Amino acid sequence: GAPLATTCAIAAAATRGVLIKKPQTVELLPSIRSAGLDKTGTLTKGEFAVLHVETFVQGSDPGDLDPLKMAAAVEMKSAHPISAAIVSKAVGCVGEAFETADEPAVKKFKNLPGVGAQGNVSFGSKTASVLVGNHRVLEAVADPGARSMFANFQRCHPHDTTVAVVVNGTLRLGMALNDTIRSDAAKVVEELNALGCEPVMLTGDAEAAGRHVAIATGLDPSVCYFSMHPEDKHDWVQKQEDSGKPALMLGDGINDATALAIASVGVAMGETSAALAANSADMVMMTDKLQRLSQCIRLCRYAVWIER
Ligand code: ADP
Ligand code: MG
Repeated sequence: GAPLATTCAIAAAATRGVLIKKPQTVELLPSIRSAGLDKTGTLTKGEFAVLHVETFVQGSDPGDLDPLKMAAAVEMKSAHPISAAIVSKAVGCVGEAFETADEPAVKKFKNLPGVGAQGNVSFGSKTASVLVGNHRVLEAVADPGARSMFANFQRCHPHDTTVAVVVNGTLRLGMALNDTIRSDAAKVVEELNALGCEPVMLTGDAEAAGRHVAIATGLDPSVCYFSMHPEDKHDWVQKQEDSGKPALMLGDGINDATALAIASVGVAMGETSAALAANSADMVMMTDKLQRLSQCIRLCRYAVWIER
């Protein structure tokens, strides 16, 4: 069995909403020297609202498929925090018809971690391939003008998360969404610094939206990483571990899962996490109070000190 102080630390953490899955984590937490912090759903609440919708291709015939509806059909299959906002925007626009009259069928749905989601959507007899996600989905668009149109749209919404909707290889919509920064995100950044666990933001989102959150939470944007693929997050953790800076990784998404799995201490964001993230983690935050994490590091330092 684990030493008594370790068992007590696990119990004390649990009553404060932090689930430590195995005793070794109590021993590892005090030695953490770097902390990779995911942005969306971690430093932010991951509660998005669609602020703007821009239509890029005008004048489609009335019988044509509504790109917002197509995007929402795909997002209904996704568990990403962005998906609920796009679905409710579509429901708000088309009302009951969305749920009743012609329910969309989605085939070949695929999550594109760190990018978006895709699927083949059919309404009645019509079928289209639909891609929803960040600028990377434009790689599937042949027209080079689409990239500059979307880049312009992004420049108009520098603090927001921007999403493109590509239908049958054509850029149809741009959406700007805003998220809410957690009220104690800045506090946990400050405390991680004080504990010698150098915090860095690792996000799949674009640089402009990422910098905004970095600055607001007291992170140095010049040491943060943007537009990261899941394997980039994994590689960052590996690099820290290899250079003698045991890493903590805090995240919520399927795009964080491999980084969570290899980090000395992987921490998933509780109830809102993707199941894959929670399964890959050593600890699960069952609370949205981010500060519980730095408190937990102090608690484990104390437990390890008692045992020595
Ligand atoms: P983070 O690393 O900050 O948690 P994610 O990797 O989850 O962010 O997402 C990165 C970006 O990928 C989002 O900002 C968004 O632009 C895009 N994205 C990911 N999943 C989706 C989705 N289901 N729908 C639309 N966009 C998505
Ligand atoms: Mg996330």
